[in-house]
Amino acid sequence: MSEHIGRPSNINIINSAFLIGMPIIAIVSLVYYSINYGIGWFEPIIFVMFYLASGLSITAGYHRLFSHRTHKAAWPLKLFYALFGAAAFQNSVIKWCSDHRRHHLETDTENDPYSVTRGFFWAHIGWVMIDEGQEIVDNVEDLQADKILAWQDRHIFLIGFLIGILLPALVGLAWIGGAHGFLGGLVYGGFVRVVIVHHATFLINSAAHTWGNQPYSTENTSKDSAILSFLTFGEGYHNFHHTFQADYRNGHKWYHWDPSKWLIKSASWIGLTRELHKIPTKVIESRKMKKTFHEKVDGSEIDTQFQEKFKECLNQLRNGFNDLRKRRKEYKTAKLSKKSETKNNWKAIKQGHKIRIKQCKKRISKARMEFKLLVESMRLNVDKKPVPA
Ligand SMILES: [Zn+2]
Ligand SMILES: [Zn+2]
Repeated sequence: MSEHIGRPSNINIINSAFLIGMPIIAIVSLVYYSINYGIGWFEPIIFVMFYLASGLSITAGYHRLFSHRTHKAAWPLKLFYALFGAAAFQNSVIKWCSDHRRHHLETDTENDPYSVTRGFFWAHIGWVMIDEGQEIVDNVEDLQADKILAWQDRHIFLIGFLIGILLPALVGLAWIGGAHGFLGGLVYGGFVRVVIVHHATFLINSAAHTWGNQPYSTENTSKDSAILSFLTFGEGYHNFHHTFQADYRNGHKWYHWDPSKWLIKSASWIGLTRELHKIPTKVIESRKMKKTFHEKVDGSEIDTQFQEKFKECLNQLRNGFNDLRKRRKEYKTAKLSKKSETKNNWKAIKQGHKIRIKQCKKRISKARMEFKLLVESMRLNVDKKPVPA
């Protein structure tokens, strides 16, 4: 790492001391606390409270709102993210997003600050512990112009200490009282929680660029992993995210584990978020089909009949989704005049709309099925071809 081409490298003493010291403090204080006070309901609850607040401030706030602008948020929510994001001790929004935007623009290259091509350790934590020349903060003029974020950047360590260390201790003091409460809050809501949020976030840069599958793109090392999503508030669908970074979701299916998406969506019901950007399903699915098809072809000669069949599948899929959208819109408009219809009349109208919607869904699943068969027959075709001597 230190011999990285053309860049003088120095150990960043403050960051390294923090990243090595914090887990030691967490373990020692946890052992001391457990011997003296044991464990009840209070400790896991205060841990989860601060884990959710600071973890989600990083994923939904720092990442999806500030870095990628996937939606808009009201100032109280921005302030919450600024306060509890600072409590995660991952630097200010402005610096975090500058690094992250560069990571997306230059993934896996020399200029990617946490490129996994320099090793798992570098992507996970090494890049924070080692300085390479001057710190660059660019491509974040929009964030620098925001008063809350500029203020957070100026006082990042003080805010981090107050919200991430002192506040959980005071919550513990108010809840349980005495040294028991103060220390319980400090250890579980502060030290232990900081270490776990740290490494969960770091895993996105290391593990999510190492393990998993690539359903949407092989242009970079990003991977999708459901297990990782479970540990990181939904951020493990990283191949999807690198392909469609403007989407506020990382797990785009309703059943994908993505608490950050659920937070952003439910905040929109009470007006805290708005203009949630979603990539249309037809775009996502055709991208997936294209990727699977080209992977099968992979430079080898491909029969024109397969090419034609593939185009047909794509068209069927897109038309199916376009029609589905139209039919749903029609149904929505029809619902507005529901009151002027008799009960029986409305029943018949509703039935008609539902049948048309169902037909569109059938067309979509037919396109998916035909694509599956196509890929299967291509595979058989490849197996049949004689191996060149
Ligand atoms: Zn991102
Ligand atoms: Zn990434």
